[in-house]
Amino acid sequence: MQEKIDKLVRPEIRALAAYHVPEANDLIKLDAMENPWPWSDAMRAAWLAAIRTAAINRYPDPAARELKEGMRRVMDVPDAAGVILGNGSDELIQMIIQTVAVPGRVVLAPDPTFVMYRQIAVVAGMDYVAVPLLDDFSLDRDVLLDAVAVHDPAVIFVAYPNNPTGNLFDAELLRTLLSRAAGLVVIDEAYAPFTDASFMSCIEDYDNLLVLRTVSKMGLAGLRLGLLAGPPRWLEQIDKTRLPYNISVINQLTGCFALDHQDTFLAQAREIRSQRAQLMKGLQGLPSLTVYPSEANFILFRTPPGCATDIFSGLRKAGILIKNLDGSIASLRGCLRVTVGTPDENAAFLAALEALLEC
Ligand SMILES: *Cc1c(COP(=O)(O)O)cnc(C)c1O
Repeated sequence: MQEKIDKLVRPEIRALAAYHVPEANDLIKLDAMENPWPWSDAMRAAWLAAIRTAAINRYPDPAARELKEGMRRVMDVPDAAGVILGNGSDELIQMIIQTVAVPGRVVLAPDPTFVMYRQIAVVAGMDYVAVPLLDDFSLDRDVLLDAVAVHDPAVIFVAYPNNPTGNLFDAELLRTLLSRAAGLVVIDEAYAPFTDASFMSCIEDYDNLLVLRTVSKMGLAGLRLGLLAGPPRWLEQIDKTRLPYNISVINQLTGCFALDHQDTFLAQAREIRSQRAQLMKGLQGLPSLTVYPSEANFILFRTPPGCATDIFSGLRKAGILIKNLDGSIASLRGCLRVTVGTPDENAAFLAALEALLEC
């Protein structure tokens, strides 16, 4: 069988590592930027009542009109922009790339960043160019603009704020990038609930700006629902790569239900922002850590040389799962990433970390 696999599977696919998600079991889960608060019993009951009526024997509304209109409203999409919904923003990244994929064409992004840009570009047969960030994880202006000039990327992805670093890039430089780039520039605003910065209102200023949003980090990671906004003429092309009915009947109903409870999610986002400040203070108070600023619902920090994996394992033994980025790329050596949880979860994490740093 291996012979057949080697013969048939494209070499770049064989070389890929599958996206690995560790099991959380009973651990305090601070690894995946999820909203830590479960729904109240009342909200759950109202949701069950809403999906009771689901016409699950029928195909969903292929355009998901009601949900789309609601998402436009809460995400402040300009009237002149078009919108496509995806089964998670991951699916929208895939659709954007499929629309322009030609072998040898380039997808470009800063590095480190969200790993799915590379994964999806490679699967689509495109070349991926990673432009290293500076030591403080800001954009290197000259290196970035040179790389864009040299590689003429079909698509540039910019996570804003960036994952896994948590920072926002310089907005003025991103505007320069938008003017210089001949291809598409996708500003991925997955962490929009936790920052005031956004390019959503700039869509009409450019002919190559797409803005990505998701409901995952805001509190609905289990739903799988993302939104792409941009010039209608671009979206008309990208929409052709969408599989029909990609937003299920249950997802459309649940998405609309969540929009009706937007206040709950907004209040939780505000609470996460204030918990982020607390957690930041707690981390900054610990010895021997470098803590990076964050506009997202997670914080990246660097541990002393050679300690990251021991600290990660120690936290796990103490019942807390975070993300170990040590060993991914050189610029993240010693780095761990913790998602902002509930006050109790954050306190448990800080106490366990402090105990581990003492020994
Ligand atoms: C988490 C994340 C996503 C994925 O969002 P889904 O809608 O859950 O697929 C996209 N972009 C960035 C930068 C992320 O961190």
